[in-house]
Amino acid sequence: MKTSSARIAGLGTTIFAEMSALASRTGSVNLGQGFPDTDGPSEIIDQAVHALRNGRNQYAPGAGVPELRLAIADHQRRFYGLNHDPESEIAVTTGATEAIAAALLGLIDPGDEVIVLEPYYDSYVAVLQMAGAVRRPVTLRAPDFRLPLDELRAAVSPRTTAILLNTPHNPTGTVLRRDELDAIADIAIEHDLVVISDEVYEHLTFDGLHHIPIATLPGMSDRTLTISSGGKSFSFTGWKIGWAAGPKPLVQAMLGAKQFLTYTSGSPLQPAIAQALGADDAYFDDFTAQLQVQRDLLCGGLADIGFEVHIPEGTYFATTDIRPFGFEDGLEFCRMLPDRVGVVAIPHQVFYDDVEAGRPLVRWAFCKRPEVIAEALDRLTGLTIRR
Ligand code: PMP
Ligand code: GLN
Repeated sequence: MKTSSARIAGLGTTIFAEMSALASRTGSVNLGQGFPDTDGPSEIIDQAVHALRNGRNQYAPGAGVPELRLAIADHQRRFYGLNHDPESEIAVTTGATEAIAAALLGLIDPGDEVIVLEPYYDSYVAVLQMAGAVRRPVTLRAPDFRLPLDELRAAVSPRTTAILLNTPHNPTGTVLRRDELDAIADIAIEHDLVVISDEVYEHLTFDGLHHIPIATLPGMSDRTLTISSGGKSFSFTGWKIGWAAGPKPLVQAMLGAKQFLTYTSGSPLQPAIAQALGADDAYFDDFTAQLQVQRDLLCGGLADIGFEVHIPEGTYFATTDIRPFGFEDGLEFCRMLPDRVGVVAIPHQVFYDDVEAGRPLVRWAFCKRPEVIAEALDRLTGLTIRR
């Protein structure tokens, strides 16, 4: 009996599932998988309950409920000055994860080369493999994790058809700057490439830095599919309401695959995310300010304990180098840590082709209440230096 396909060969179990299971088995503080430990706004939950109680329980239209598509269009205009027709240029998906999968399946042929920033979000690799694509990683390297423009240019070949971007970037916390985005845009235009831009952390930037969607750069709105999700911006990661916005041909190609993956995404939560997207500026400002406090608490504490800390510009995640503690291998470290001190973190190395570049790096999530971060730091002070 054949029990699995070549399409999934070698993909294994995601590190997030492995580490969250380890957290519950050991009763550890889970600074691994990136999900907040507090819910988003209660009035948004009320809106979801209202929808459940008022007949929003049958299939949504394939591209999503009209009020959410309209709210996404309004959001893109309000924050970035981007104009999209909600009828044909926006589609709702089951999380950003489905948008990424459907976009790659709908736009990439077997043998096409796709440039991807590494460390990469693990679903990119899995779906590129399932699509039969060849990935061409460009590595963001410690300590700065900036985009190496020469390496990016060198990664383009005659078979390249797309660049899969992620900014703010998980796991490094890099927020791509205007000059980096300009360089990507130049390459995309020169080689006639599609850009698929994963911007799920668009509202999670710190120190006054702002996220720039690459679709806003000259010549890019016609070749960029922008992907985001309500999970991170509103602390509802379990709702899995995502979306894609872009020119009609790209959105329709994504929908061409999406219609046969899930057909349509869950109806009752969509009106609630529509309402959330219309939140006033104070919501977004307060949310980021609180997250920045948590970032500083975690980064300051990890540095005090003796880690070399790379302070992130955005996202939920901080990265440390574990070598000051005498460890070389982040995967071994993260598998040992829960039993040793009761804390879970995520090793970078599983997100690289160039495993050596990520081997000593470990990612810690700070989307947790300050007392939880403090408890994790307290436990980590028990970590002794291994020489
Ligand atoms: N992209 C990145 C970079 C992420 O970190 C995540 C985290 N969940 C996702 C996509 C998936 O988003 P969603 O939960 O909306 O599917
Ligand atoms: N995006 C989150 C992270 O990077 C959750 C990932 C997941 O569970 N697939 O931790």
